[in-house]
Formats: sequence, C-alpha cells, structure tokens
Amino acid sequence: MAGEGNDTPAIGIDLGTTYSCVAVWKHNRVEIIQNDQGNRTTPSTVAFVDDERLIGDAAKNQAAMNPSNTIFDAKRLIGRRFSDSNVQEDMKLWPFKVIKGSKDKPKIVVCYKGQEKEFLAEEISAMVLGKMKETAEAYLGKAVKNAVITVPAYFNDSQRQATKDAGTIAGLNVIRMINEPTAAAIAYGLDNESEIVGRLNVLVFDLGGGTFDVSVMTIEEGGVYEVKAVAGDTHLGGEDFDNRIVDHCVSEFKKKSNKDLSGNQRAMGRLRFACEKAKRILSCTTRTSVDLDGLHEAIDFSLKLTRAKFEDLNMALFNKCIEILETCLNDANMKKSCVDQVILVGGSTRIPKVQHMLQHFFDGRELCKSVNPDEAVAYGAAVMAAKVSGCSDKSVQDMLLRDVTPLSLGSQLRGDRFDVVIPRNTPIPTSNAKTYVTVSDNQSAISVKVYQGERSRSTDNHFLGRFEISGIPPAPKGVSKIMECYEIDANGILTVNASVMSTGKMKKLVISNESGRLSKEEIEKMVNDAETYKLEDLAFEKKAKAYNDLEDCLYKMKYKIKEYSIRTSVHPAILKEMEKAIAETAKWLEDNQGAPFAELHLKKVHLECVCKPLF
Ligand code: ADP
Ligand code: MG
Repeated sequence: MAGEGNDTPAIGIDLGTTYSCVAVWKHNRVEIIQNDQGNRTTPSTVAFVDDERLIGDAAKNQAAMNPSNTIFDAKRLIGRRFSDSNVQEDMKLWPFKVIKGSKDKPKIVVCYKGQEKEFLAEEISAMVLGKMKETAEAYLGKAVKNAVITVPAYFNDSQRQATKDAGTIAGLNVIRMINEPTAAAIAYGLDNESEIVGRLNVLVFDLGGGTFDVSVMTIEEGGVYEVKAVAGDTHLGGEDFDNRIVDHCVSEFKKKSNKDLSGNQRAMGRLRFACEKAKRILSCTTRTSVDLDGLHEAIDFSLKLTRAKFEDLNMALFNKCIEILETCLNDANMKKSCVDQVILVGGSTRIPKVQHMLQHFFDGRELCKSVNPDEAVAYGAAVMAAKVSGCSDKSVQDMLLRDVTPLSLGSQLRGDRFDVVIPRNTPIPTSNAKTYVTVSDNQSAISVKVYQGERSRSTDNHFLGRFEISGIPPAPKGVSKIMECYEIDANGILTVNASVMSTGKMKKLVISNESGRLSKEEIEKMVNDAETYKLEDLAFEKKAKAYNDLEDCLYKMKYKIKEYSIRTSVHPAILKEMEKAIAETAKWLEDNQGAPFAELHLKKVHLECVCKPLF
C-alpha cells in the first residue's frame, strides 16, 4: 500500500455527522481544502429535487423547502440494523422516510425525478465522500484515489466496514481508517512537536453538530498516540442547541400570535436554519436577532436573542458535557490535574460558555486552541494519509501511531456468558487466542458466536457474526479442544480463526458478510449506480447551461431589436419575422422549463439564424 499514492497525493477526510472536511499534505504542510462555495467544511447533506441531486451547501440551503427528500445524519445509520433501538429512536426525528431493507439493513426512501428511489446509508455517505473527493480534485488539478477516512472511536466493526464500503462506492481506495480523537491529537502533536517531552496526557473534547465525544489519550515522544478511554453522548451537539432556540421561538410565536407553528414543516425548517445562524453569531457577539418574514400563516416573526439567553436555554446540555467528561476521566483512571493538554474539537467548542465551563473544570488551565476545531480531524487524517502513502517528509515519517479497541471483543459461552478475548482499550493491531473445550460427549461441531461490548450477557452486546466448526473427532466432553484466535488489523477490523487442536482443522469468520455488510457484488452495483448519478448530475448541468444560454440570447435580442439603427436599416418584413421568432421562443421557453438539452440548444441555433440581421 505504501508508496502507492506518490504522484497523486492521498487525502484525509473527516466524514462528520453534520459537516465534513477534506485536507491534503502539500508543500510540507497540511492544506484544508475549500469547497466550490469557498467553505472549509461541507454539510454532510444530500438532497433530491425534481431534476437534480444536490450535495453539501446546496442541499442544506434548500432543506426547509424539501424536507422529505433532504437526507442528513447518514452516519447515524451506517453499519446499523433497522431494528437497532437507536435507529428506531432516530427515525422519529427525521423528516425523511427510512424502511427495513434486506438483511435488516435500513433504507432511505426519496422521490427523485418523480420516482421513488431507495438508498442505503453507505450510498448517501458515498455521495458526500464523492463531493469531498471532487473538492480535492478541483484543488489539486488531478484525480484522487487514496484516502484516509476518520470514524468515531466508539464505532464498532460493522460501522467501520460500512464506512469503508462507502469510500469504495465513491471511487476511493481507503488506505486507512483512524479514530477521530486520534486524528485531532495527531494534528496537535504535529503542530507542537517540540513541546512533547516524555509522555503527554491529552483530553480531546469533541462537541460537534450531532454528537459529543470525549477521549483521554497519551502522546509519547516520537509520536506514539494511544486512546486510553472514550465516553460520549450520541445525541448531544450543535443541533440540540439549535433545537432549544427553535423551541423558544415557537413558544414566543405562540405568545405573540396565539398560533402553533410546530406542525408547519417548512416554517420549522426555515426557523431551524435561522437559529443555527443566530447561534454562530452569538459565539462572537452578545446579541442578535432571528427575523423571518411570513413565517407561518403569513405572520412575520422577529425575536431578539442575547448570548445570556442562549446559554440559559442550553445550560442543562452544557452541564451534561461536563458530567460525561468526568466519567471519561474516571474510566481512564486519571485525575484532572494529570491532564497536560485539553484539545478542543468540533464546531460547537467555539461556544464561549462551553470553553469557560471547560476551563473552570480544569481549574483555570488554558485550553489548546492552536488547532482549528472544525478542521483538526481532517488535518490529522491528511497527515496520516501522507504517512501511509509513503510521503518522505521527515516529520511525517517519524510519527508512529497506535490506536486502541473501543469495545471488548469475545465469544458467547454456554448460558449466554460473554467471554472476552480482546479487552477494550487494547492497542491495535493486536491478536489473542483462547482455548475452549467441548461441552457434551461426542460433540462434533461448535458454533462460534462473536460479540462486541462490555455487558456480561452476550446477547446484551452487539452481535458481529457466527460460524460453525465441525469435524471434531468423537471424544468425551471436555476432552476436545478448540482454539479461537482474534486478530485486529491496523484499521480496527476483526478476523476470527477457530481450529480443532487435535486435527488442525481451521475455519475463519468473515464477520463482514454476516454482520450485514455489503457483498462484493452489491458494492460493485453501487459503484456503478454512483457513476450513473454522477452522469445524471453532469447532464443536468449541461441542460441548465443551455437553458441559461437561450434565456440570455433572448434577452439580448429583445433589446437589440428596439435599437434605432436596427429599426431604420432592416427591412420591415424581416423585422416582423424576427420579432415573431423572439416572441415565440420566449413563450416556448416559459412553457417548456424542463426541456432537454438538445431542444434548448436547437431553439437557440434557430433563433440566432432568424435574427442574424441584428448582428
Ligand atoms: P460534526 O459533528 O459533523 O463533526 P462539526 O464538528 O463541524 O461537525 O460541528 C458542526 C456544528 O458546529 C454545527 O452544529 C454548527 O452549528 C456548530 N458551529 C460551527 N461554528 C460554530 C460557532 N461559531 N459557534 C457555535 N457553533 C458553531
Ligand atoms: Mg466531527
């Protein structure tokens, strides 16, 4: 793998729940790449409209008008089952439709080009990744293939696999996946290399759009990164702060006009958009207002909002962050006085109150802000991408990296007991083996069931997969031995091997397939689909351009024909013919807004022909 991306640089992508960011190692440093709107982060949103697919800012900007076909939060679905209680809970909040697909995989249903279409979360994430890939390609001026993608530290095996699949569908070769806090710490470690003497205890406080993740890590001299403990809340972040403001606005609206607007999806969408903007403004000023004309039943809405009010509305949520932070420190067995650096990650850590509370918790210590919170994860991913793809810069090559398993892995024993083979927080790559014996006389087969989690009952944990190993020679119970070997590679992906010790017969678990992962054929199909959608996008752009060109042409001619010099020099019969052609084309364009490219183009050529005397 190393060396593969020497001429086309490998990129680093932070695929966030709400916003994504892409970066690349260039000229001996990291460049955060701006998208076509000039923004350094891109909403992880995809929208389907009558004749077009939109990704990123364009999708988010029209969300209020098209809620049921604007898809966000794919990261909350990826690698999960439809019946997962988290999915069931999240579904209640989404304005788009999710149904149960085959193998219990959730499918997102949208209306695109007048037809109902179903997408897996992998496909939606692939569209976002594709947008990030294009952003990088536009900046670098060449095709990009290799990428490092980050995932939350708590993502289990199937969530990691599915994220990797999304990369493949987007046409990327995912050379490595790393944990988000690790990436942020790499960004920090690289910027402050000279400060790392011996061992540094680092706390990564990541408060993003939809989730809160806190991790305790150590960075050792020479760049060894180790995640010691993780904690968090999957429903605590910027959107929750937005929602508190939205609720406040809804009740103020009710007070003023005695009308409930909460059932009006479009109004709620507009309000949410405005509240997010107000929240961002309140991070740098102390007062702002939310103003929306004709919000509900043609009634205008205007509300003054102060930073103090915003803090008051969200105090309970901010307090919750601090509680979770304490749990994480306890888990890592670390006193807060032993934390050397507190790294801020995620857009919501720009909120002054959050920074104050955090600083207060750490007894007034300065927080590390040298890394841009929205960009730190992508920054670290880009450094990692450079390293894995064989970049020769010394600062990159000297860096070592060790991640840990986020959850314990093990097998189900009789009586539904969970036997841990690899405990959580073990540095990876790693492997460990355990020996089990048969539980009945002449038992010829054993079923190996693999789970991930911290509960003592297997079935309370996350089921990863199962397989059978047969052909055990007849023997009394407890005599035949079976060895199970668990191996986790550098990407955090698990393989389980089982062997009958007396015969050497082996069997390997392809967890990925049984845990609802996509098959090779399914991935191939999606890669093709992704290509088709891209072609459709291109066709749409071409059509839109032809439409604009015709409109421009009409506009110019309408004015030109009124000019005195034309009216006096061109024969009246020809003038009349031209006026007729212009009027007819204008009417045609009005009636045929959705006409295909060829027709639009033809109309323009025809018009130019008839109106040649004008030029
Ligand atoms: P993700 O959680 O998807 O990784 P980010 O870390 O980029 O996303 O965080 C996005 C969140 O940060 C959004 O809710 C956004 O409103 C919020 N945010 C961005 N800038 C600011 C700011 N200046 N003040 C407050 N919140 C902000
Ligand atoms: Mg993030």
